[in-house]
Amino acid sequence: MDFKVTDKLLSHCVVYTINNTIAERDKSNNKRSAVVTLKTLDENLQQAVPTEYEIMMHQYSTLLEFLLSKNQSKKYKEWIYEVVTINQYNQDSRRLKNSLTRLQTHIPFSERLFIIYQNEAPEVTDCDVKLLTNSILAYYKEAYLELDEIYKTRREIRNKVNIAIKRAFFELDVSVELVRSSHTELDFADDFVNMGIRFPPYNGTEADDYAQYRKKHERLYNNSYISWYLEKVGMIDVHPENQKFSKSCVFVDPSGLTCKLLVDDGMLFEREELFKEYLKLDERIRPLIRAIFYFATCQKLNKSAHDGFLTSYSYIVMILYFLMKKLNYPVIPCIQDNSITCNFPECLHKNNGKTMTRVFAKKLRFIQVRYHTCVSIKKKDESHEIAEDKKTIWISENTDDLGTLLIKFFDFYSTRKHFSPVSISKASNISERSFSNQPAEIQDPFISILYYLITQVAVADNILRAGCKSYALDITIDKFIHAANLLKSGHKFQDICQI
Ligand SMILES: [Zn+2]
Repeated sequence: MDFKVTDKLLSHCVVYTINNTIAERDKSNNKRSAVVTLKTLDENLQQAVPTEYEIMMHQYSTLLEFLLSKNQSKKYKEWIYEVVTINQYNQDSRRLKNSLTRLQTHIPFSERLFIIYQNEAPEVTDCDVKLLTNSILAYYKEAYLELDEIYKTRREIRNKVNIAIKRAFFELDVSVELVRSSHTELDFADDFVNMGIRFPPYNGTEADDYAQYRKKHERLYNNSYISWYLEKVGMIDVHPENQKFSKSCVFVDPSGLTCKLLVDDGMLFEREELFKEYLKLDERIRPLIRAIFYFATCQKLNKSAHDGFLTSYSYIVMILYFLMKKLNYPVIPCIQDNSITCNFPECLHKNNGKTMTRVFAKKLRFIQVRYHTCVSIKKKDESHEIAEDKKTIWISENTDDLGTLLIKFFDFYSTRKHFSPVSISKASNISERSFSNQPAEIQDPFISILYYLITQVAVADNILRAGCKSYALDITIDKFIHAANLLKSGHKFQDICQI
């Protein structure tokens, strides 16, 4: 929409709200704010600026859509604006601190409010952040106590399914591994136990050999055949599922846990092994990811709750990218970076990693799975005179606690442009380049950017599934901004999950 139209609409929204606020005026307070219902604002705009209103309706269909679409800053001159429910308004701590005051009139709960307040960032005190950090850690410890037994059961289920699959495909070199968040143990108690059938990767150069290799493993996708073997090891309610991109078997283990088994052609497992390597580097990463997963689940901001939203995989890449490249003092290095020198023969990078052959744009191409497994992080002032065996020391100057990192994470991703691209692969400039028009471009850590440029097929295959829809990103950003504001006003972690 034309800048002048947007400007006129927002200017009118602010002026109307200041002149018609329904919040009590508090003369003792010099912080300025004003509130109107979205409904009255809508009616007024329609009459006062009809031409601009019509253009807006043509493009966005409602005033709410228009206001939410302005997710870049939600600012107009010195004002910040938000749309909130009555419930959110009543619970908002800014109200308690008098920057927003009590409403003069009774408003039905179904109404939404348009609020504006002056552009000054709330102060975050050390004390607030410490409380926040403690509340994240308390949640994390509780969640892990609950999950410890479940993880043990999950590993036992994997062993059972592994036996069944080896039996079913005794002539092939196959095994079963936990995949997705079951592999990194970042999932929740009621999540599916995700498993993948793995087989050795092909790393040759001959097209004929590759075709034979594919043919040899075709049988692994016969999920009716697999179901029969799963039933033989005692699995209940086994049924094959055929979706657009994958075939899988869903079943229930006698322990009561629901499981999903699919064929992993290598990349699921390899990506999660990379994530696991990162999780080992710093003790703040796992609780931070878990906290963000929990927040996203409570707010229904993930794909498992709503199609079109970010996947857990996307969240992990976003968090690692932020910790690696978007802080003044990074928490972690990029372990795919070739400029890290190491001399440890056991390191995967030193060993040249693993090569996997795939077909992109009808040609055989190689995917290089290569990263350092030798890195150990030491704090700047920590003594590291005695270097650990087989470790490359990387010095970290980051001293942020969990609370600060969570607030900074929400702040960083409160801007739409920070989603394109999100890339944790090699720290070169090319990986910072966006090459699709996806609202969130979550780049694959292993598939070279050149392949994306060669073929749209690769883009569809590796980005679309990881990214999210435009409207979903708007809602996600909106919730991030709201959560950051609440945390900055001294709220605890559980508060932002319940808003
Ligand atoms: Zn290394």
